[in-house]
Amino acid sequence: MNTEFAEKELPMQKPRHFYGKHYKSGDALVDWIFRRFIESINTKIKQIVLKRRLKYETEELLDGLWEPNTHTLYLNPAKYKHKKSYDILQSFIHELGHILFESIRERNINQLENILFEKLTPQQKRALRSFIPKDETDS
Ligand SMILES: [Zn+2]
Repeated sequence: MNTEFAEKELPMQKPRHFYGKHYKSGDALVDWIFRRFIESINTKIKQIVLKRRLKYETEELLDGLWEPNTHTLYLNPAKYKHKKSYDILQSFIHELGHILFESIRERNINQLENILFEKLTPQQKRALRSFIPKDETDS
């Protein structure tokens, strides 16, 4: 129990599904990954927590972090100055990539993240985004 995060915790509720034509891109592989992502969110992630100044062991700030032991996915909502077009969804896709492809290295997960961020449809992105807690400190 960590009360530090209590405010921004999103306890995972009932599984939510996004089926049908509306959630298809026309690319069978992209759609397959989209469905696996939704499945992972529904079955593997217990909570998604927004955390600024997100760090893990190193001093380097992180955009996202998956903690398999606690089934917690951390996302950093902060937009740093050097990142002009930071989108938290991109970090979410990245961490979901780690969950789905556990043995894939960081560099290659970055490639997957970029490919998917371009190929997922607006509807698919909206579906994924709907799981990210609202950033109350951001106006
Ligand atoms: Zn990573």
